[in-house]
Amino acid sequence: MDCIFCKIVTGEIPSYKIYEDENVLAFLDITPVNPGHTLVIPKKHYKNIIDTPDELLQGMALAVKKIAPAIIKAVKADAWNLGANNGAVAGQIVMHTHWHIMPRFTNDGHHLWYGKPYADGEIAEVAQRITDNIKIR
Ligand code: AMP
Ligand code: ZN
Repeated sequence: MDCIFCKIVTGEIPSYKIYEDENVLAFLDITPVNPGHTLVIPKKHYKNIIDTPDELLQGMALAVKKIAPAIIKAVKADAWNLGANNGAVAGQIVMHTHWHIMPRFTNDGHHLWYGKPYADGEIAEVAQRITDNIKIR
């Protein structure tokens, strides 16, 4: 499999690993939003959150809970963002499930995306269409 993150799991590509358990690996992003920016991945290859088995997502969430406070303390961050780009249009470049833990500092120059208002009546219609499509397993 020609996947950068799979190669990081096997050690074929070097990385600064900061956390590892049976199913989950975390390592520093090489082009960080700020120093300490970390990627959390399942060791097995899945292309996005939807494809990733529940127990692996649970393991990733628990890893974030362990790692984030350590990152914040280490780099003395004021806050942090947890992010996932799902699909190329949303900015996903590496097609192996991953979450970004991004330390934030006051006036670090980064911004969140901008919100835009709904058209009249659109919000209720969108809510209905989404709830109609939720499949409870
Ligand atoms: P995304 O745009 O959500 O797919 O993010 C992919 C991230 O992987 C980017 O922030 C890259 O900087 C990071 N990245 C790519 N190659 C490596 C690597 N070899 N080691 C660490 N991080 C990497
Ligand atoms: Zn992979």
